[in-house]
Amino acid sequence: MSAYRGRCHCGAVGYEYETAIAPADWPMRACQCSFCQKHGALYTSDPAAFVRWTHQDPWLLSRYRFGHKTADFVFCGRCGGYLGAVTEEGGQTLMVINTRTLDPRPEGLPAAQPMSYEGETSGDRNMRRSARWTPVRDS
Ligand SMILES: [Zn+2]
Repeated sequence: MSAYRGRCHCGAVGYEYETAIAPADWPMRACQCSFCQKHGALYTSDPAAFVRWTHQDPWLLSRYRFGHKTADFVFCGRCGGYLGAVTEEGGQTLMVINTRTLDPRPEGLPAAQPMSYEGETSGDRNMRRSARWTPVRDS
């Protein structure tokens, strides 16, 4: 497993992403929804990896929901840096990280695949996230 660090612009909030997959093989997804397009977010996840927050104070994260309201988009409450999306599934917090916030950004990341999830039901969405998203561990 290798650890990759990400953080917002001001550094108030951040995470560590630990995965056995080399960056050149990361699945990279560019969600085509209106929210992700505005942020230029490029996501990755690995269900065998884990994410852990590196900041101490959970209230530094601000959260936004829209659409099906089954995920929280999480930001730095100070600088607005967009770290990724989290959801609760079966008592477990799952996340996709916004790779734009990795610092340093790993070299050799593949080009992102455009993804559209419109037309999914909430049930479809939960199943997809359980299969793909990364568990968040308590630090
Ligand atoms: Zn910040």
